[in-house]
Amino acid sequence: MTHQEILKALSIEPVNPGACARGWIHTPGGKELASVNPTTGEVIATVIQANAETYEQVAATAHEAFSSWRMVPAPKRGEVVRALGDELRAHKEALGRLVSLEMGKILSEGLGEVQEMIDMCDFAVGLSRQLYGLVIASERPRHKLLETWHPLGVVGVVTAFNFPVAVWSWNTALAAVCGDPVIWKPSSQTPLTAIAVQHIANRVAARFGCEGIFNLVIGPGREVGQRLVDDPRVPLISFTGSTEQGRKVSEALGRRFGRAILELGGNNAVIVLDDANLDLAVRAILFAAVGTSGQRCTTLRRLIVQEGVYEELLGRLLKAYPSIRIGDPLDPATLMGPLVDESAIHEMMAALEEVKREGGEILYGGRRLERPGFFVEPTIVAAHPGMKIAEVETFAPILYVYRVKTLEEAIALQNSVPQGLSSAIFTTNLLSAETFLSPEGSDCGIANVNMGTSGAEIGGAFGGEKETGGGREAGSDAWKQYMRRQTSAINWSTQLPLAQGVKFEV
Ligand code: NAD
Repeated sequence: MTHQEILKALSIEPVNPGACARGWIHTPGGKELASVNPTTGEVIATVIQANAETYEQVAATAHEAFSSWRMVPAPKRGEVVRALGDELRAHKEALGRLVSLEMGKILSEGLGEVQEMIDMCDFAVGLSRQLYGLVIASERPRHKLLETWHPLGVVGVVTAFNFPVAVWSWNTALAAVCGDPVIWKPSSQTPLTAIAVQHIANRVAARFGCEGIFNLVIGPGREVGQRLVDDPRVPLISFTGSTEQGRKVSEALGRRFGRAILELGGNNAVIVLDDANLDLAVRAILFAAVGTSGQRCTTLRRLIVQEGVYEELLGRLLKAYPSIRIGDPLDPATLMGPLVDESAIHEMMAALEEVKREGGEILYGGRRLERPGFFVEPTIVAAHPGMKIAEVETFAPILYVYRVKTLEEAIALQNSVPQGLSSAIFTTNLLSAETFLSPEGSDCGIANVNMGTSGAEIGGAFGGEKETGGGREAGSDAWKQYMRRQTSAINWSTQLPLAQGVKFEV
């Protein structure tokens, strides 16, 4: 597919309106936003951004849609999500290619991201028949206690550039079956993928007559995003992005008692013990550290190696890194595409300057590539505990490698950073693996054994602790966050006994 064919298949025009509620909304005089192909630095297409008035139209529509959507039986809402999954299946190839074109991840990852959307729809369809509450034994005769889950209201979904479409589906597929309309504020670095998804969602909504359930508003985070976060008509904000922005969002929601799902930065580690299968470890480390050019929240950033295998593992990585094919993400031979933009390159180079200042040693890579677009070499750094730069998340392919003596030392080093998203251990020893998974082991939301830190399946709840924000999305019981719990006591006797034996007779 040529670039033009991708855009045509997904209804992307040279200039696109940046807001949609019951239909596309034009913002007269709205500021233009150019979407740039990070492989070439060229503009793909532009979007006219929403402003305060456009936001108001979108929010009012979503709020109004809630009053009818909440009364549609959940399995019927599931039928809409099933159709959404079917429509995504039909457009998987084009949408996966657009993700690669606009964001820069390699094609198999772009396609994988769309597959994750499809998986989420399948999961939510099943869930639409399982939104169960509880019946609890009452202490009073002929009484019953119930817990029922009701739709919550409009859900605001703010997404990051690096998973431009999957994170929308994690939230929207669940919100839709739970009875909540969604307002999506995507990253300004990836507006076209959002517009493409909205076209797909619009077709489904029109078929089922439920327009106003899937809504989009594209604009600057600190204006349009902040408006969404501050809107009392939006009881839940699911925010995916940096810890810095997430902290502001969390404070704003705290002030108005809004609910938050926060999916923020990670600083993920792999521990490799002396008894590890190094063939597995090397392959997993390469994908986790270099995949998506180090721009996953779950990217492996810190490799903690026991001294007995340190030299061998490092040697194998130093041999493998030069063979990573860097280039156009749409070329099937490419393993690593560009960074998202110029500022990402500056941040990587600034971090490497800091590495040198703090006594770290760049063992491989560290340079920008001389070609159009935003390409860098994947980089390996020999690090030491206490290096401050390794405690922050630099969104680039820098791997810090540490040498440790014991499992206890490795776990302490792993847990010493402020973030708590993903972690993994390579060992063939059951005791070591179980220690890592125990309460005295990894402090992260994700803890894997004999596999890397990235590439989670949708069936489990996804998210992390500490400065990663504590949110959980996707599978398991994450759906409960999109609903409100109502507890009811029903008296089917002719008496009025009070709980705890309290007497109040007049
Ligand atoms: P970012 O924080 O710069 O932006 C994220 C989103 O927030 C964007 O849509 C942006 O427009 C919006 N935003 C900015 N200011 C806002 C405000 N005041 N109010 C509301 N919205 C606002 O992040 P990014 O550079 O797009 O993405 C990379 C970051 O996201 C990394 O830190 C990465 O770890 C994190 N991330 C986390 C997860 C996770 O599940 N934990 C997943 C993907 C990405």
